[in-house]
Amino acid sequence: GTPVNKTYRIAVIAGDGIGKEVMPEGLRVLRAAAGKFGIGLDFQHYDWACAEYYERHGAMMPEDWKAQLAGVDAIYFGAVGWPRTVPDHVSLWGSLLQFRRQFDQYINLRPVRLFEGVRCPLAGKAPGDIDFVVVRENTEGEYTNLGGRIYAGTEREIVIQESVFSRFGADRVLKFAYELSRARARKQLTVATKSNGIALSMPWWDERADEVGQSYPDIRVDKQHIDILCARFVLQPERFDVVVATNLFGDILSDLGPACTGTIGLAPSANLNPEKRFPSLFEPVHGSAPDIYGKGIANPVAMIWSGAMMLDFLGDGAGACRAAHDAIVQAIEEALRSGPLTPDLGGSATTVELGQAIAERVAAG
Ligand code: ATP
Ligand code: MG
Repeated sequence: GTPVNKTYRIAVIAGDGIGKEVMPEGLRVLRAAAGKFGIGLDFQHYDWACAEYYERHGAMMPEDWKAQLAGVDAIYFGAVGWPRTVPDHVSLWGSLLQFRRQFDQYINLRPVRLFEGVRCPLAGKAPGDIDFVVVRENTEGEYTNLGGRIYAGTEREIVIQESVFSRFGADRVLKFAYELSRARARKQLTVATKSNGIALSMPWWDERADEVGQSYPDIRVDKQHIDILCARFVLQPERFDVVVATNLFGDILSDLGPACTGTIGLAPSANLNPEKRFPSLFEPVHGSAPDIYGKGIANPVAMIWSGAMMLDFLGDGAGACRAAHDAIVQAIEEALRSGPLTPDLGGSATTVELGQAIAERVAAG
């Protein structure tokens, strides 16, 4: 039949601090890519989920936020957090964590890559040595509010914090990780576990990995205890391709990974509802960085790369969206090789200068 030219509706939420500085660069590059590859993008800007909104309304978002966002195809998110006027737990629970839960974004995806031209904090590692993806379970597991204190305030004080895993929740993240491994060249999946110490839930998690894996005989699976896995992230990052982990372990790994690649200003992330029943959210790993806000020196690459991931997800990894994703990543590679570079990368360029350089390369491509 005739191809339908869909226009994607993107909710743009810049948030706080450097979120407001890197977002325009993300949009600049997305516009360049959309123009070049004939993709329709309709940006809808929201001025909530930020400290200024909280200061006026006493809440991070309007009550009908879910209805306002339910119809969009994706959420492009800067950063929240402005501790001078909003306690961090309020800004986080009042916005980002609501999106993750209410929109069932059960996959947190974080690519970890060492780029040429970026100084690696690990000794002796070359760009090809670090190129993997962390898949974190984003909705259940160790992060519950089940439990509490008994004999509180006495010498007999006891605290209990339950973890809750479901077969449904584990199997869907494991399946996603196997599929992702299959789509990549190395066909290799590392499963983070701790079945030697956590005697009930982790052996069960290993069993789920084995059973889901029966449908993926082409994937090599390597189960590793979280302690040695962390050590190997630092010592032998070349061992990894796709790494899947429960909520807590994934949280740790997905910060440790980017830390091994130079600057947090490069690291992108996706919070996915893979079935697209709800919008997915794309954001840099870094926060609002109040210490550098206002200077115009924040690195925009994490925001820009997150935008590329958004296009790839919207286009199901194919067609014009895939081509646009690849062009953006290539433009990032080139810019990091030859500059201009922001101060976190050892240069003296501004956020806008680096954003413009990447957008120009995408347009020229
Ligand atoms: P969170 O939002 O998770 O609470 P945080 O506020 O502790 O994070 P960030 O806001 O990510 O941390 O900042 C951590 C450090 O990294 C700060 O010194 C900040 O200036 C620096 N940083 C963060 N993002 C960038 C960026 N895009 N470019 C340059 N430096 C950055
Ligand atoms: Mg913060």
